Parts: sequence; structure tokens; C-alpha cells
Amino acid sequence: MLANIRIVLVETSHPGNIGAVARAMKNMGMSRLTLVSPKIFPHADATARASGADDLLASATVCDTLQEAVADCQLVIGASARSRTISWPEVTPRECAGLLAVEAQHKQVAVVFGRENSGLKNHELDLCRYLLKIPCNPAYSSLNLAAAVQVVCYELFIAAAVPVEKAAVDAEPQANAAQMEMFYRHLQQALNDIGFIHTDKSRSIMRRLRRIYNRAQLSSKELDILRGILTMSQGNKKNG
Ligand code: SAH
Repeated sequence: MLANIRIVLVETSHPGNIGAVARAMKNMGMSRLTLVSPKIFPHADATARASGADDLLASATVCDTLQEAVADCQLVIGASARSRTISWPEVTPRECAGLLAVEAQHKQVAVVFGRENSGLKNHELDLCRYLLKIPCNPAYSSLNLAAAVQVVCYELFIAAAVPVEKAAVDAEPQANAAQMEMFYRHLQQALNDIGFIHTDKSRSIMRRLRRIYNRAQLSSKELDILRGILTMSQGNKKNG
């Protein structure tokens, strides 16, 4: 189960933090590290701080974009110290581990961590179904990146040790992040075509629509139906 869970770090500045994350992961039996545009990697500081977990650094996947990093994932959770204006559904590390333990039985899943200085951007959280917040001192709530990863991986380790109730067997495979992104692009285009939104002002509506569709946990077949409806409404508009 842990093998299906990847830890994704977005644009990490300090290679030492990447090494400390590898160590935190390996302590908790996790091995899949993905780096999105790391500022400096590989680097001696990463290897030193990995302290024997450098096999995770050697096998890390490096991607240009977060979209690419999670394209095949069916559940993506983003870790953030900050609440957002449009609130994503929030989970604690324990709740996050519970959700991932079920999904990761048969599917690819990811937990995404942001930059040391500025965290995750809203457009990156758009790719996430839940926002993970580690409860802590409200007056000093930003943990070091590797410390945050450690808390999450610990909960995953504990969740992995408990036999998971037989997960509801999905009759249909759930849509993955890449399919959801194609759907959102299509939805935005269709809403634009029928005059419901204008591209320049569509961001907050699209964000709210993402929340609705993310809650629904759509299967690929259900997405096909929705995209069929979008295509028809675009066509009808053009003909009408
Ligand atoms: N200054 C940044 C925080 C960066 S800490 C900000 O304002 O967002 C680096 C990363 O560690 C964050 O992007 C987040 O993924 C994770 N992190 C740190 N503290 C956290 C917390 N309390 N809850 C969840 N994630 C946290």
C-alpha cells in the first residue's frame, strides 16, 4: 500500500530539505519521492541530510510541473499551513492517512508539499481534492518542510499497519488527475462558449466547480457522460 503513495515536493529551494525528506520517508517505510522543478538537485547537502536514505534520492522522479507529477493519481492531497479564501475540504494528517490507506490499496495517490518560502499556489491546490493541515500553534503554524513530511509519513506508517476494512470495491475505475484536468478544461471552454463565464473572470467560479466535482469522485465513465453533455451544449449553441 505504501508503495502506491508518492510524496511530491514542489520547487524546493534547499537541497538539504530534500535529503531530510528522503530520510523521514525511509524511516516510515516509504520510498516514492517526486520532485517538481527542484531549485538545486542533486546536491551534496541532499545526500548528507538523507543520511543513508540516498537510495530514495537516486530513484526520485523529477518533473517540470505538478500536473505531470500527479497525472496518473486518483487521489491527490495538498499540504498547506495556511487556510485559503475559498476553502478546500480540510483534513488532519490522521484523516489524510485514513483516506490514503483505503485508496492506495489499488490506486496511485499523492501528498503534495509546497515551497519553503511561499508554500503551494492556489492553482496547484486546484489539482488537490483535500487540503491537509497539521494542527499546531496557530501563532506559529509553518513547520519545516521535512518536519511536515515526517508527521504525514508517520500517520501513513501507522495506518498501513492496521488492516484496512475491505475497501468498497469500485465497480468502475475512478478518473485520474489527468482526466479530471481535461474535463475542467472542457467545462471552462463550454461555459465560455455558452456565455456563462468569461475567461478573464472565470477563476473563482472554476475553483468552486472543481470543489463540487472533486466531492463527487467521478469514474471515467461518468466523466465521459459529462463531457458528452458539454460537447452537445457547445454544438447546440453553435447551431442555435
Ligand atoms: N511559508 C509557507 C510555508 C512553507 S513550509 C507558507 O506560507 O505556506 C513548506 C511546506 O511544508 C508547506 O508548503 C506545506 O506543504 C508544509 N507545511 C508546513 N507546515 C504545515 C502545516 N502546519 N500543515 C500542513 N502542511 C504544512
